[in-house]
Amino acid sequence: MTGIAIAALLQAAASRLQATGIEAPAREARLLLGAATGLTATRIMAYPEQPIEPAAAAGFQNLIDRRVAREPVSRILGTREFWSLDFTVTPATLDPRPDSETIVEAALDRIPDKGASIFLIDFGTGTGCLLLALLSERPHAWGIGIDRSEAAARVAADNARRLGLGDRARFVVGDWAAALAGSVDLIVANPPYIPIDDIPGLEPEVRAHDPLTALAGGIDGLDPYRILIPETARLLRPGGTVVFEVGQGQADAVAHLGTTAGLALHEQRRDLGGIARAIVLVKPT
Ligand code: GLN
Repeated sequence: MTGIAIAALLQAAASRLQATGIEAPAREARLLLGAATGLTATRIMAYPEQPIEPAAAAGFQNLIDRRVAREPVSRILGTREFWSLDFTVTPATLDPRPDSETIVEAALDRIPDKGASIFLIDFGTGTGCLLLALLSERPHAWGIGIDRSEAAARVAADNARRLGLGDRARFVVGDWAAALAGSVDLIVANPPYIPIDDIPGLEPEVRAHDPLTALAGGIDGLDPYRILIPETARLLRPGGTVVFEVGQGQADAVAHLGTTAGLALHEQRRDLGGIARAIVLVKPT
């Protein structure tokens, strides 16, 4: 077979990625070669001399061009791993971030009983990653994901089905809590919290590829919390918990909004980078 060897393709691609300032050029080049050729990561590592057909090599160059233009790998692949589950991502959804796993951890600590048949709501569900990660860990829980984007809600519903969680997850298109009443055990939300003036300075992977409506949180980034916190206080059962993701430097302000609305601050939890990322508030009994 004619064609260029895997090792040579990877090396040329990795140096282009590196020159663009991408942090893990070799790993990303391997991932994209896998996507272009259908070869497994193991095979790519084990057979560096294997030639790649010209058509597949051209497809690979195309993916590298997209990455050099700062499209995130998750968007090129159309999938992102979160909480060890595979989520489809589309232009309608925020790309799930590893930092958001802090929200899942904090929420699970509030429901230590694996058999708990709790009801939870995820505001601004996007891919459904927070809701579905929680449902995967609590097999008797059920929940609703709300998104104002119908396209995002469809992606979330599709993710729920593919992950085998479709019978315990429902998705609603609407404006935050307007459609809801009830007595909710757990609320989670990763709302848009970037101050509007900070958007132009974001990395191109974020600025040009995450939906603006999933990022922009008004002048100070706190507008969604101002709406969600009173709604949360209304919906939670006494003793129920809300876990909010917040941006860097927003933890105290969001905790204060919570206590002003009658919720008790239970915990502020840091992400792997040491940033206070999850605010845990409890409705007093
Ligand atoms: N964590 C995202 C970022 O900083 C923002 C997501 C959000 O606004 N909720 O890129």
